[in-house]
Amino acid sequence: MAIDGPAGAGKSTLAKRVAARLGFTYIDTGAMYRAAALWALQENVSWDDSYRMEQLSIAAEIELAPGRIRLNGHDVTEAIRSPEVSSGASKVAVIPGVRRAMVAKQRAMGERTSVVMEGRDIGTVVFPNADVKIFLDADPDERVRRRFRESREKGEQISEGSVAAQMKERDQRDSTRSDAPLAQAPDAAYLDSTALSLDETEEAILKIVRSRVTNGKDFS
Ligand code: C5P
Repeated sequence: MAIDGPAGAGKSTLAKRVAARLGFTYIDTGAMYRAAALWALQENVSWDDSYRMEQLSIAAEIELAPGRIRLNGHDVTEAIRSPEVSSGASKVAVIPGVRRAMVAKQRAMGERTSVVMEGRDIGTVVFPNADVKIFLDADPDERVRRRFRESREKGEQISEGSVAAQMKERDQRDSTRSDAPLAQAPDAAYLDSTALSLDETEEAILKIVRSRVTNGKDFS
C-alpha cells in the first residue's frame, strides 16, 4: 500500500496507524533520504555532489526498526529530523543516482512483507502496481500549522514563518525535480485531510482500502 503527498499532510502519522490496524510493516521512505543527507553532513560531502552522494546512498545501511531509524548501526532517529537535514534530504533526493539506490532498497523491503510505504513517489515509481494508492493532501496553511505545532511540542525554537518558508521551498523542489517529482498516480485515491481529525482521516483511508480490496464494492 502506497501513501504519497507533500510535507505536513499527515502521511507518517496516518501510515503508522493504518499499518498497525492492518498488521502491515510501516516504511518511512523520507527517513532514508534524510539518513543519506545526514551521513553526507557528517562526512563533509556536499549535497550537490552527485557522484559521491550516489556512492554514499548505495553504501548506507539503513534499518527501519519500529519507531527507530539506524544508519550504519547508529541510532539517528532524532538527528534526521532537524530543519537542516530536512532541507538536505530534499536536495539529495533530486539526484537520480541517489533515488536509484533508495528505490532499490525500498523495493527489497516491500518484497519481503506487506507494507504501508509512505513518501513522494511510491505509487508512481517504487510500487506502480501497489494494491492501494492514496495521495494525502492538505491545505498549505494547515500543513504549516501542523508542522509548527509538532516543532513546538519537540521544544524546537522555530518561528511559524520559518516553518512556512522551509516547507514552501521543499515542496517546490520536490514537485519540480525532473526525476520522480511528487505527483499523484493516475490510479491513486485523492484524500484532503484539511478539515479532518486524525481519526477521521484514518477511517477515510481504511474505507479506501476496503473498497479497493473488494473490487470497488464497499462493505463499510
Ligand atoms: O517525508 P519526509 O519529509 O521525511 O521526506 C524528506 C525529503 O525526502 C522530502 O522532502 C523529499 O525531498 C524526499 N523524499 C523523496 N521521495 C520519497 C520520500 C522522501 O524524494 N519517497
